[in-house]
Amino acid sequence: GKRDGRGTFRFFQLEMGQALKVRALREQELRAGILRGEIEPFYQPVVALPGRELIGFEVLARWRHPDQGLLGPGEFIQLAEETGMIADLSWSLMRQACNDARLWPAHLQLAVNISPLQLQDRQMPERVLAILTETGFAPSRLEIEITETALVQDLEAARIALRSLQNIGVRIALDDFGTGYSSLYHLRELKFDKLKIDRSYVASIPLGSERAKLVDAIIALGSSLGLVTTAEGIESASSVEWLAEQGCTYGQGFLFGRPMDKPATDLLLNEWSDVAGK
Ligand code: C2E
Ligand code: CA
Ligand code: CA
Ligand code: CA
Repeated sequence: GKRDGRGTFRFFQLEMGQALKVRALREQELRAGILRGEIEPFYQPVVALPGRELIGFEVLARWRHPDQGLLGPGEFIQLAEETGMIADLSWSLMRQACNDARLWPAHLQLAVNISPLQLQDRQMPERVLAILTETGFAPSRLEIEITETALVQDLEAARIALRSLQNIGVRIALDDFGTGYSSLYHLRELKFDKLKIDRSYVASIPLGSERAKLVDAIIALGSSLGLVTTAEGIESASSVEWLAEQGCTYGQGFLFGRPMDKPATDLLLNEWSDVAGK
């Protein structure tokens, strides 16, 4: 009846108010967390296929929350995007990562994710250059990963920004390839250095399946455009050989290594250099 309806409405209002409060609190927490340096770089290995030689790492953000422990990007990246905090967060993460990566063996690369908001910033290339100069990290060792959502906003601005980064030697990867609405359009309009095949394609690749045909076609498309490809989210050894045979250049996934903090990364690099006899 009428009373029920009103009750439901009040309940709904209450819930909305509650949700907004929770969100406002979370926002305050994140803002303070960024200032306190709680956003930490984690590094996931990227390897060459099929031999699995380490070629570098992708930096992934983690929030070391004072009471909630380690939080993944799923818990804060969207909020950071919506509130504009993503810029501060990402630039600070890039600075930390370049600073760490500077001490890695010189042939190892660093890949950094750039958000749509950062790509719209006209000063984006100068900001990258400033971080490289400040940390002494070579531009040729840096790769910037962008998703297609970042490109839909303003393609011309993106073109200018990406070109000026490429002019100083930074490489550009198109991330999550195959999940956007107009992947081919973006490939035609912009010059990338690398395609990262989304892990939804890679997760399990039964031989002869439709998915396998798609992965094969993406790799062929990439190589015909002169791009290298990375398959993301490789979890099983069975797909490694096959991906390499199709011409996929690099691989990334839990099979080779999970994202890890700086101490664990340094440990891995030490063991690796012992094995290599350096
Ligand atoms: P992404 O750029 O596609 O990063 C790869 C994601 O796949 C990471 O999730 C990684 O942990 C996960 N992954 C890697 N290998 C495997 C695997 O074998 N199996 C499975 N199931 N997952 C795997 P993560 O760290 O949770 O990051 C999620 C997304 O958050 C990233 O996706 C990226 O879009 C975003 N992100 C992370 N750090 C940053 C950042 O610093 N800035 C921006 N703008 N976005 C970020
Ligand atoms: Ca990425
Ligand atoms: Ca990706
Ligand atoms: Ca092929």
